[in-house]
Amino acid sequence: MNFFKRIRHPEGPLSPGNFPAGKEYGEPAIDLRPLDSEDAQFMRIALEEAGMAGKEGEVPIGAVLILGGEVIGRGRNRPISMADPSAHAEILALREGAARVKNYRLPGSTLYVTLEPCVMCTGAILQARVGRLVFGAEDPKGGAVSSLFSLLEDPRLNHRVEVASGILQEECRELLQRFFRERR
Ligand code: ZN
Repeated sequence: MNFFKRIRHPEGPLSPGNFPAGKEYGEPAIDLRPLDSEDAQFMRIALEEAGMAGKEGEVPIGAVLILGGEVIGRGRNRPISMADPSAHAEILALREGAARVKNYRLPGSTLYVTLEPCVMCTGAILQARVGRLVFGAEDPKGGAVSSLFSLLEDPRLNHRVEVASGILQEECRELLQRFFRERR
């Protein structure tokens, strides 16, 4: 398998005389790893979901739930089409993931969402015992993680969630801004 990988590479394997600094002999000359970090790669899936929500006339927000490196749930904002005020992207991704692993608690999971979660979704993240939350853009009007409230930092709650923000935030924000611009 390794052999095929090597001969497929346009540059071929490197010879000891021409490999660039910082590269091990035998590694491809061109860095074939994607430029995106793992967080960004998963956020792109959430962005795909957000894009679909926008096409359906919903505010474009998407989420994806990862456990053990695998996608176990995906969700997009759908309160209008489902006539359900709780049909936020995060809730739908958590529901799908919990159903898949047949457990209402999801320790060790990571939830990716394009926009900072609201109060309800932050509550659901706590209920589900999500291990890590990664969000793209901040939501100054409704964010409950760092903007309006910092629920996950409240020491009175016993579950701790690791938080990372700003992942692909430009793309996440742009999608929302374009949606509202086109609706005006
Ligand atoms: Zn929400």
